[in-house]
Amino acid sequence: MTKADTLVVNREAAQADIRFVAPGLVAPDASGAPRLVGGSCRKCQARSFPISPVCTNCLSEDIALVELPDQGVLYSYSIVHQAPKGWAVPYALGYIDLPGDVRVLAHLDLPADKISIDMPMRLAVGVVGADASGAPLYSYTFKPV
Ligand SMILES: [Zn+2]
Repeated sequence: MTKADTLVVNREAAQADIRFVAPGLVAPDASGAPRLVGGSCRKCQARSFPISPVCTNCLSEDIALVELPDQGVLYSYSIVHQAPKGWAVPYALGYIDLPGDVRVLAHLDLPADKISIDMPMRLAVGVVGADASGAPLYSYTFKPV
């Protein structure tokens, strides 16, 4: 799949009525590309993902929805070999540090032997498993830039 194909798939996934593992965490931006929906405290500007109803920095409950940056750096990762029924294993699960001091836990969409700490990563949407009927389950993922 080319980068252009991936972008088209990502746009369709962000816009279409597809089944996400956790709905409401991804929305299309103005160009149709997927973006993570996070929270930003109106009092201290601390960011969160997923959205927290209470700011973990200042305890304010005045939280605004924000579109988070779509690129970050891999902080750490692990390879998962046991998962719920229907999930494809093994898969890599990692923490991506986004600008604005937000750390996101996500599937990493690349082979384990290609992963390295501090590598630049970009948000994507991909199939991570299937539900009981065999229909694909989507989630946000991160791929190398
Ligand atoms: Zn705050």
